[in-house]
Amino acid sequence: MATAIEKSLIEILSKANWVGILTGAGVSAESGISTFRDPDGLWSKFNPMELASIDGFMSNPERVWDWYQYRRNVIHSTKPNAGHYAIAEMQKMFPYFNLITQNVDRLHQTAGSDDVLELHGNIIENHCFQCKKPYKQEIDLSSKEIPRCDCGGMIRPSVVWFGENLPHKVLAQSELVAQKCDVFFSIGTSAEVYPAANLPIIAKKNGAKVIEINPNVTAISYIMDYVIRDTSAETLPYIVEELKKRPTN
Ligand SMILES: [Zn+2]
Repeated sequence: MATAIEKSLIEILSKANWVGILTGAGVSAESGISTFRDPDGLWSKFNPMELASIDGFMSNPERVWDWYQYRRNVIHSTKPNAGHYAIAEMQKMFPYFNLITQNVDRLHQTAGSDDVLELHGNIIENHCFQCKKPYKQEIDLSSKEIPRCDCGGMIRPSVVWFGENLPHKVLAQSELVAQKCDVFFSIGTSAEVYPAANLPIIAKKNGAKVIEINPNVTAISYIMDYVIRDTSAETLPYIVEELKKRPTN
């Protein structure tokens, strides 16, 4: 374990009643899924407005569908990492626990996390661009053809695109978690995308201890009570092991 985890942090966690965790692309990076905003991230090579917006879809639906087929194929060939599994274990360690993610890859669920609050939707599920009806049929990952809804509309991934609103209920629940929890983790997120980046700030304002796990400095590092400059796959299994050694309340 390269990074020293302060004993006081383990102490606080062992007494915590309600823990909230916000995750971002960094958590999946070690599974081989590229981040978006790092210098070598996806958005340095691709134009998000062309690939992840309603206008982008309307002007070239095939290009957008292609992009998501590519990303689904990447996800299909990856597995959750030690960070995902540690978070799934943590949900059993506290009286109240909520996981909020900006990731659309569903790796948290694959690792065993339940009731994940998906702020940005996911790219595994799909719905009709026209009538919004969920599209339940399985997607052929090798096909370039965009499936059609019964109404004739094109099928799109159920991910939140730029310019679209976050799912209202998910956001409201996430804000409630931030208000009520006593410990809030911000993990692997660059904290540049709002309203997600606001959640640790809400938690801090409401008296929670806020902890950042990220190899890099972020836009909200300065508000943190604890900063761990390492990856979640390195850090979280260690925290879980330390917690197991202590009696919890
Ligand atoms: Zn439809």
